[in-house]
Amino acid sequence: MRRLTAVLLPMLWLLTGCMNTTDDEGVDRSSSKTRPFVEIKAPPTYHVLSGYDPKWEAYVREGIEMSRAYWGSYGPTHVWIGGREDGRPIDGAAREAFIEEYCRWRTAGTERTLEECRPYVMERFIDVIESDRPEAYLSWVDEKSQPEAELVFLNVHEWFYEEDAVPDPVLRGIHEYTHVFQMAFGEMPTWMMEGGAVFAESWLIHMLGRRPLDFNLSRIMERADSIRETGLTISDMEDIDTAPDDVAKHHLELAYDTGAWAVAFLIHRSPGRSVSRYRDVFHPLVTELGWEQALCDYLSIEDKRDFYDEFERFLSLPREDRLAILDELTP
Ligand SMILES: [Zn+2]
Repeated sequence: MRRLTAVLLPMLWLLTGCMNTTDDEGVDRSSSKTRPFVEIKAPPTYHVLSGYDPKWEAYVREGIEMSRAYWGSYGPTHVWIGGREDGRPIDGAAREAFIEEYCRWRTAGTERTLEECRPYVMERFIDVIESDRPEAYLSWVDEKSQPEAELVFLNVHEWFYEEDAVPDPVLRGIHEYTHVFQMAFGEMPTWMMEGGAVFAESWLIHMLGRRPLDFNLSRIMERADSIRETGLTISDMEDIDTAPDDVAKHHLELAYDTGAWAVAFLIHRSPGRSVSRYRDVFHPLVTELGWEQALCDYLSIEDKRDFYDEFERFLSLPREDRLAILDELTP
């Protein structure tokens, strides 16, 4: 499937997928206050497994830097890129260098040891690379004095198609860095996090004149429509960690697809219909008020339910009417 896969692996350490905040004791910390990332001048630090074609790093970096130029610079952020093509074995020296580089960073300033880090890297990076499965996700590393963002991109060449005008690994970079920005402002529901990141993939590319805004969003709408008959809505997808199985199994359509349209609708419903205002005004409101009150203040509504109800009515409109709001969004 040519899209981001949400990674919800058994976690050894405090390791978070996009929205997963389960620590190594298996305690659900999603309801407790997460310490945010901070605004930081320094660019992300890129780490690449030697032997993986540099063009994959270049695509990922292009997306991350595009995203950072738009959202602002947050972190500290470390980017880990690795993969292997055509089943070629990973060079032993390259693997050791990658493990050492990762573990030196990951254990610095924590009580973790290099010895416990090694099996962790083997499972989370090397085994995944050797499985030839693509992965992209953000981990929130909370053990350091200041939480750091870890962006992981493995085997992204598997998402590359020659005919794509914008290579998918670029979109993965945009998407994951958008989460770094979001996590500098406080907790938001899963649909808003993933929806915001998917929306950003289309918006940023559109702003650069590389593709029409509806190019992906129209296909995304079809997938969102495909699960409407289940009766599930984004209100069921506020927290993937606590969602029951029958909801969680639809998380791609609910959080990513329907979420992207919910964010487009939210912006369209807001004063000025402005995406940069969503960035500059809405997110600081989340920090100040929490996301639910921020949503109410931003849209001048009484309750988040009002938003959910309006959005459901929007989803019932004819397809052309829904797509038309994209033309009315402003920078
Ligand atoms: Zn995501």
